[in-house]
Amino acid sequence: MQDALNAQINAEFWSAYLYLSMGMHFEAEGRTGIANWFRIQFKEEQAHAEIFMNYLNSRGGRVELKAIEEVPTHWASPLEAFEQTLAHEEKVTSLINNLYALAEAEHDYATRGKLDWFVSEQVEEEETAKNLIDRLKLIGDNGLALYMLDQELATRTYTVPAPLAAAGE
Ligand code: MG
Repeated sequence: MQDALNAQINAEFWSAYLYLSMGMHFEAEGRTGIANWFRIQFKEEQAHAEIFMNYLNSRGGRVELKAIEEVPTHWASPLEAFEQTLAHEEKVTSLINNLYALAEAEHDYATRGKLDWFVSEQVEEEETAKNLIDRLKLIGDNGLALYMLDQELATRTYTVPAPLAAAGE
């Protein structure tokens, strides 16, 4: 279970790195609202890694930080970036489900309980990405509509995820 959780910590940091890269890309493209949305996504993913690291420490485990693999650096359009976001989150959902199954198989009910929050979080992540994809498809090549979405995404602010907020971090 510890090895699997360490692998998940690495996956969360890879997600963080992916979204940071998207943020930097859209910053360079002048889409500062979309860039803001991805920068916050980056912070959220770091927080996910922290939740797992705190949990491993609380159980007397060892956190082992491994190399983070390279991430893409260019996207043809906001739609392409959000489509990759959805595909990636679907993959993360399957990783969380695998951890859940492993925790059950090992009768590790504490870890299973810890994973419950992540199961719900993944539903939200997928729903948010799907919603933005739908809207970007409607927008098509309408520059004004894309400008308005960019303005809207500029207003997103970071909220400390509940399990970290509860730990007072
Ligand atoms: Mg995550």
